[in-house]
Amino acid sequence: MPTRWNYPDPELQDELRKIANAIVSPGKGILAADESVGTMGKRLSDIGLENTDENRRKYRQLLFTSDKQLGNHISGVILFHETVYQKADDGTSFIELLKQRGIIPGIKVDTGVVNLLGSLDETTTQGLDDLGKRCAQYKKDGCQFAKWRCVLKIGEHTPSYQAILENANVLARYASICQANRIVPIVEPEILPDGDHCIERCQKVTETVLAFVYKALADHNVFLEGTLLKPNMVTAGQSAKTKASKEEIAKATVTALSRTVPPAVPGITFLSGGQSEEEATQNLDAMNRYQGKKPWALTFSYGRALQASVLKAWGGKDANVAAGQQELMIRAKANSEASLGKYEAGSAKGKAGDAGLFVKDHVY
Ligand code: 13P
Repeated sequence: MPTRWNYPDPELQDELRKIANAIVSPGKGILAADESVGTMGKRLSDIGLENTDENRRKYRQLLFTSDKQLGNHISGVILFHETVYQKADDGTSFIELLKQRGIIPGIKVDTGVVNLLGSLDETTTQGLDDLGKRCAQYKKDGCQFAKWRCVLKIGEHTPSYQAILENANVLARYASICQANRIVPIVEPEILPDGDHCIERCQKVTETVLAFVYKALADHNVFLEGTLLKPNMVTAGQSAKTKASKEEIAKATVTALSRTVPPAVPGITFLSGGQSEEEATQNLDAMNRYQGKKPWALTFSYGRALQASVLKAWGGKDANVAAGQQELMIRAKANSEASLGKYEAGSAKGKAGDAGLFVKDHVY
């Protein structure tokens, strides 16, 4: 086996490392606002709004015109393609609004999942064909990092070897294309919470999936210091009879990560995966309080668990924009504290309360 390869030149390594480290700097995490047009439509219809360009723009405007203090808790925002090119009412581009808040713009670059032939409803994620070209353009337009979501399902016979291998490989190929274009890849192999499996099963599946992902990243010469991982937390399945406590979730998640994610990776930015806002905050807090080997930052990259209260408070009404922004600030601050292991359980009260945010077979 030939073993000659080249890592990126030192200048590129530095650039990637700096971006990744800035995203996971202490007390900061990511707002995932990259819902596709279809997914955003579901969020808008929940509050009685039509899924128009203008309504999506107005909602994102609410998020990005929040008080400048937002940048104390949020280091990066993941955008969907159309949002990169939208502007606020006064003509300021959304990218500029984020920069003014010290927030790094990121971009979702996958184009969604497709079924794998012969599998039990398992998928791979598409979008590689013109990825290099798109990354080069996004970098010019101000995006410094990217996200690509792969999905794995726990069932009696899944995830299969086919799905685990294919998704690890496509994530590695994506990561290498991003890095070649000076963009930090967030590697997201999401294991869905659907099912009645126990937490131990989720832990073993998470360990197996991550082991394949890091082997593939090594095979593709990905520079780990310039990457971030966005995994699920290790929990019992959504319909399991016995739920795990936050301490059990913390232990199982940190253990799984410590067995599979190299210390060269600067940070782990969890997805919220249908947990309620408060659950997602408390689980992150518990991981940061957990005494165990944790050579990476453990923080958040939440979509639903940062936006449920915002959407509820806003309700699509101009008069409620400030109320929505206040909810975002409350949740961002709570998660910032959790990323330091300093969140007092129940202290951040949101409009969405403890409402579960689970969506069956979630598509992003
Ligand atoms: P949730 O936090 O809603 O799971 O979404 C985060 C995300 O970006 C999934 O790709």
